[in-house]
Amino acid sequence: MTSQDRSVYDVAIIGAGPAGSVLALVLARSGLSVALLDQSEFPRRKVCGCCLNGNAMAALKQCGLANLPKSLGAKPVVRMQLRCDKRVAELQFQNNWSVSRTRLDLALVEHSQLAGATFLPGQRATMGDVSDTLRKVELHSKSGNSSIAARIVVVAHGLKEGTIARDSRLGVGAILPRAPQSMAYDGLLMAVGRGGYVGGVRIEDGQYDLAAALDVDFLKAKGTIANAVCDILRQSGITETAELAAADWKGTPLLTRRPTEIAGERWFAVGDTAGYVEPFTGEGMAWAMNGALELAPIVQQSVSNWQFELIQAWSNLHQRKIARRQWLCRVLSRALRSPSLSRGLVTGLKLFPGLAQPVLRQLSRPTESLAGVIE
Ligand SMILES: Cc1cc2nc3c(=O)[nH]c(=O)nc-3n(C[C@H](O)[C@H](O)[C@H](O)COP(=O)(O)OP(=O)(O)OC[C@H]3O[C@@H](n4cnc5c(N)ncnc54)[C@H](O)[C@@H]3O)c2cc1C
Repeated sequence: MTSQDRSVYDVAIIGAGPAGSVLALVLARSGLSVALLDQSEFPRRKVCGCCLNGNAMAALKQCGLANLPKSLGAKPVVRMQLRCDKRVAELQFQNNWSVSRTRLDLALVEHSQLAGATFLPGQRATMGDVSDTLRKVELHSKSGNSSIAARIVVVAHGLKEGTIARDSRLGVGAILPRAPQSMAYDGLLMAVGRGGYVGGVRIEDGQYDLAAALDVDFLKAKGTIANAVCDILRQSGITETAELAAADWKGTPLLTRRPTEIAGERWFAVGDTAGYVEPFTGEGMAWAMNGALELAPIVQQSVSNWQFELIQAWSNLHQRKIARRQWLCRVLSRALRSPSLSRGLVTGLKLFPGLAQPVLRQLSRPTESLAGVIE
C-alpha cells in the first residue's frame, strides 16, 4: 500500500496554509502518520501582505527553517512608511522579511512532505462523524467523493466559520510584476485612509505585493477593488496608480471573526480558523505558525490517549498564547478607523518615531514558549 492509498491516519489536517503545514511538519517528524489536505492545487495564490515579522521568523527557526525565507528570495524589510492624509512617518523594522505566499506556502508543504506527511491537494475536505477511536473526513475532488479517517482531525482551513465582527472589513490583494513608480519605496509602504488601508512591499524576483483591508460599504461605493485601493492611496498623496487598475485582484471573506469553539471530540482548530483580527499589524502568519507549534504536543497526546479534558486544555492554551496577543492589533485597527486619530498618530510618529519602537518590539516578540530558541 502506498501512502497515497492509505485511508486511516493518526492525524488529518484540513488546510495547508502556514498553520496546517507547520503542524504537519512537526507531527510527521515525531513519527505520526499525517494527511495534509488542501482544496487547491499548489502552488496557489493567497491574498496577504507577505511580511514575516520577528515572531513568525522565530516560529520558522523553531522548525529548523530559519533560512527558508532567504532561500526563497525573500527581501529584508527594514523600514516602513506610514502615510495618512499626506502626512508621512518613517519607522524602522528588525528581522522582517517579505516573500510571496505562493512560494512560502509551497515550500512549507514540501518540508512537511520531506518530514513524512502525505499531501493531498485538490481535496475539499469536511469533518465527518466520530466513532470510538476515529473521526471521518469527507473529501470532494474533481474525480469524485471519498473519505479518510484519523484519530485526530485538525481544522486549519483559514477564514471559513465563526461569528463575524459587526463592522468587519474584507481583504483584497494583487501581485504586480514590479513596483509602480509612485510606490517605489524600499520598505513597507502603508497608506491609511477613509475606507481602509493599503500596504505595498517588494517581494522576490522584483515583484510587488499589494494587500488591503477595506470597508464593505466603501468598496461598494467605489464599484471595483482597484478603484477602492487607488482612492485610499490618493488620499495619502500617491496619485500615479494606473498599473493597479489592470492588476488581477483577489478578495477574501470578511476578516475579523471568532469561532464559537476551537476544539471538540477528536478535533482541534488552529490558525485563522481559531480566530482572526484584521491584518493591520501583519501578524497572521506568526499567530498561525505559533498556534501550530503550541497545538502539536496536545495532538500528540490526543493520538496516543484521547481525553475530553484536552478540548479545554487547547482552548485555554490558545487563549493564553495566541488570542491574548491579538489585542494590540484589535486596538490599533479600531483606532485607525477614526480619521482624526489616524492623522494624529502619523503626525506623532513623524515627530517622535522612537514612540513606535515599544509597539514594534511587542509585535515581533517571540511567543513565550519559543523565547529560549531565539538567538
Ligand atoms: C489583506 C491581508 C494582508 C495580510 N498581511 C499579512 C502579513 O503581512 N503578514 C502576516 O503574517 N499575515 C498577514 N495576513 C494574515 C495571513 O494571511 C493569515 O493570518 C494566514 O494566512 C493564516 O494562515 P492559516 O494557515 O491559518 O490559513 P490560510 O493561510 O488561509 O490557509 C488555509 C488553507 O486551507 C485551504 N482550505 C480552505 N478550505 C478548505 C477545505 N474545505 N478543504 C481543504 N482545504 C481548504 C485553503 O486553500 C488554504 O490553503 C494578511 C491577511 C490579509 C487578508
